[in-house]
Amino acid sequence: MENCLFCKIAEGQIPSAKVYEDEHTLAFLDISQTTKGHMLLIPKKHVRNTLEMDEGLAQTVFARLPKLARALQKATKAGGMNIINNNEEIAGQTVFHAHIHLIPRYSTDDGLEIHFTAHDSDSSALNSLADDIRSEVGQ
Ligand code: AMP
Ligand code: ZN
Repeated sequence: MENCLFCKIAEGQIPSAKVYEDEHTLAFLDISQTTKGHMLLIPKKHVRNTLEMDEGLAQTVFARLPKLARALQKATKAGGMNIINNNEEIAGQTVFHAHIHLIPRYSTDDGLEIHFTAHDSDSSALNSLADDIRSEVGQ
């Protein structure tokens, strides 16, 4: 897609520190290096984010994660990693070409902070929401 940063990276028009490439996907180091080794995995085909992927593309892209994650962990000797995919601005997406972050973790104060706040929820509200989602997903 014209004027898409990650399409340009996929086409080699903008340089990147590539770590993996095949016919359909590319992985390269994120320029921000939130932690050492912070990597992005993208489909070469332009889609906005996961919400726009069909199952075939998702299968192709997400299937690469275990191999890349293991390689990244070995190369950086990280203790673990967070795998994050931001969808839409409200969720922190700033580049609107689908990508998955692999962020190696070294300590709790290594540059990435993720905090899940627990909220009260009653089981009837949860069940009703689950019903709504089940009907959307076709179950
Ligand atoms: P997100 O906020 O999930 O959309 O992530 C976009 C990511 O792209 C950010 O972590 C940026 O640091 C990264 N980024 C932006 N430009 C480049 C670039 N030229 N090469 C590598 N990573 C980039
Ligand atoms: Zn693109």
